[in-house]
Amino acid sequence: MPLYCDVSLPVPLDQPFTYSLPETLRHRVQPGCRLVVPFGTRKLTGVILRCHDEKPDVPTREAFRLIDSQPVLDAELLALGRWIAGYYCSQLGEVLRGMLPLASEIRRGKIYSLTDAGRDAARQLMLDASPDDPVTQILRMLEKRPLSAAYLAKAFPLAQNALRSLERKKFIIVEQVQTERDPLRAPADRLRIELAAGNTEGVRLTKPERELLAFLDLHPGSHNVKDLESLIANVSPAARALARKGLVKLTPETSPIAPAMQRPPHALNPAQQAAFDQIDAAIQSQQFHTFLLHGVTGSGKTEVYLKAIDSLPPGRGALLLVPEIALTPAMAGQFFSRFGDRVAILHSAFTDTERTDQWRRIRSGAASVVVGTRSGVFAPVRNLGLIVVDEEHDGSYKQEENPRYNGRDVAIVRAQAAGACVILGSATPSLETRYNADKGKYTLLELPGRIEARPMPTVQLIDMREEFLETRKQETFSRKMIDAITGRLENGEQTIVLLNRRGFSSFVACRACGERVECINCSLTLTFHKRDRRLLCHCCGYAEKVPSVCPKCASEHVYFLGMGSEKVEEELHRAFPAARIARLDRDTVTGKRHYETILQEFREGNYDILVGTQMIAKGHDIPNVTLVGVVSADVGLGMPDFRAAERTFQLLTQVAGRAGRGTVPGIVLIQTINPDHYAVRMAAAQDYQAFYEKELHFRRMMHYPPFSAMANVLVRAEKKEVAMRMSSELALLLSPPPEKLKIMGPAEAPVPRLKNEYRYQFLIKASSRKSLSELLQNVRSFALQHKWGATALVIDVDPLTLM
Ligand code: ADP
Ligand code: ZN
Ligand code: ZN
Repeated sequence: MPLYCDVSLPVPLDQPFTYSLPETLRHRVQPGCRLVVPFGTRKLTGVILRCHDEKPDVPTREAFRLIDSQPVLDAELLALGRWIAGYYCSQLGEVLRGMLPLASEIRRGKIYSLTDAGRDAARQLMLDASPDDPVTQILRMLEKRPLSAAYLAKAFPLAQNALRSLERKKFIIVEQVQTERDPLRAPADRLRIELAAGNTEGVRLTKPERELLAFLDLHPGSHNVKDLESLIANVSPAARALARKGLVKLTPETSPIAPAMQRPPHALNPAQQAAFDQIDAAIQSQQFHTFLLHGVTGSGKTEVYLKAIDSLPPGRGALLLVPEIALTPAMAGQFFSRFGDRVAILHSAFTDTERTDQWRRIRSGAASVVVGTRSGVFAPVRNLGLIVVDEEHDGSYKQEENPRYNGRDVAIVRAQAAGACVILGSATPSLETRYNADKGKYTLLELPGRIEARPMPTVQLIDMREEFLETRKQETFSRKMIDAITGRLENGEQTIVLLNRRGFSSFVACRACGERVECINCSLTLTFHKRDRRLLCHCCGYAEKVPSVCPKCASEHVYFLGMGSEKVEEELHRAFPAARIARLDRDTVTGKRHYETILQEFREGNYDILVGTQMIAKGHDIPNVTLVGVVSADVGLGMPDFRAAERTFQLLTQVAGRAGRGTVPGIVLIQTINPDHYAVRMAAAQDYQAFYEKELHFRRMMHYPPFSAMANVLVRAEKKEVAMRMSSELALLLSPPPEKLKIMGPAEAPVPRLKNEYRYQFLIKASSRKSLSELLQNVRSFALQHKWGATALVIDVDPLTLM
């Protein structure tokens, strides 16, 4: 029986900590289970890495409590966590915490209780009848029982200071607690109730409880608690009370996604069949293999995924990752209709209870086909045989906070360890992925045409400089665009209008002094949001009133420049007063379900025009859309980022792909002032190959990925001097650069100040991944040694954006 175990904790230090095990835990601990342990004056939850009986040299403290009776992370996932921590240069405890599906079911908080000294002091105070300052009041309250930080903060506005002073005097001790949420606390509309076998004899019941029991007696089966509200007063508390007495059973309702209507699988067309045959051969051989399924928009990639999952040997599981925005009920419905009960959906719009429920079904093996977004890559799918990453180029696979992993790349590493196959699907594969296919690391499969030989949409570029010369007017829409939309409205066909920038105007500037209104926390201009009558920072959320005079020179000539989707919508209303117009962007969409409602209504024909940002460009299959208009192809092109061209190409190609997916061919109009830019030109020609070659050439010349491994190292601090000092210290550490590494910087980051912090960055390009890794580990140790604040250093390996 093990006497000790090594635990990984979510703290900045980079090592596991050894704890001794109390008698009662010794036979229950296993690697991968969560354990509550003392850490300094706190209680923390960590993940057990190893159980052993090697007595450490230093004294150990005893673990408090075991949370799980079965590992929440199996050996395979623990190993994956270690890989992520190493590759992305982040802390293992933090990685493991992020992998834990149940993290969200656990409530974190601080609980304060009295120490013995505190108890004495409190008693003394009682006798003294001392004044009622917050310190005294808190001591008195804590004498009765321990209290949470949240409660104390509400009771005493100045609790923070008082608590700190009590902590210093060692009168109180703070515990980090994590209590598991009771599934029965789910809201009534998510609870089902049914009779349990309990005995009512001798049990005192209230009137609603009796009524509820009588109802359930008469109506066997399970019922939604909320549905009973109109029949029985106070049904929800009654239901919970009966559950505590063991007389009824309450279960959280599962997936709110309604199974779609059954639809027989399509017979694959020859290109789909050829792709499937190769995938199937690899799946049957049960060996790791990665495919790139490059299929133009509307070529039927999903059908290939479904067929591949269908052909898995019995007992093997599948994981399908989709971009955040693409996981809609329509998408999930396809899987339900094909695989029924075997499907689990991991969606961030679900409640904690729903997500936990799905997770448990996966772990138990009841669900073997899992559809999820980025973090779905950690789902405990048993005996994994296939991972599909749909739209593999999508930016939402990259987590932009610690650990900064890319779900697509993690998927490949996981599959390799599991001996599973991977399908990376896209109409616009990322340069890295396509290059890996070129090099023979991945097998390239192509679907060159649309389903049923439907034509690709015709794309026309509209040069807005010429338009201006001809009309002498600075209009949002060219004459061609107006005509084309008019035509769709007359025919009862639908239009999608894209502008990848939200808000009304993107700058507010002064004509007299040239001053632009900037965020007080960031070096970014504020965007005017007309509906809210406010200027907003799109990075930190800072908002202010629209100034009537210039804040700098008090001139009244404040004017609004640049355009966002809100303005596009307004202008469309003006140009087409009778048209039914909906807008989809982060301002109009408050939750995922809302997003789906708007899309669904558009699909059902309740709107003629859908305006929006990149949200509308992805994946949707709406047959009646025959026109896609891009207001400006230029929005992303000017970004100081080597991926700007790639992103523009992808966005334009994807949005163009929304047109003409039904029987009527589609057209796409792209307005631009950069008609000669290769990303715009080749997107218009829908020529991925030409774009790939041109962009690859540029990357090779500049030693950008895929021709180097890259990392972005950022230092940040509230005080500019501190940020500068840290960056010069790092500069010393990094010079001369080790062999095989090129280091650019320190330089001000493209956004030099963000969320109230000054930022300096180093861009590192490496011809050897190993040298890069070593260097980054050095940087991290340096920051730890010099006690830099927890957020002062950001290491981003394989960065997607350099902002
Ligand atoms: P992609 O993801 O490649 O853009 P989808 O998978 O959305 O394309 O497929 C486009 C449409 O074609 C969908 O409505 C799908 O049901 C349909 N489809 C797919 N395969 C076939 C097939 N073999 N025969 C007929 N229709 C198909
Ligand atoms: Zn001014
Ligand atoms: Zn800001």
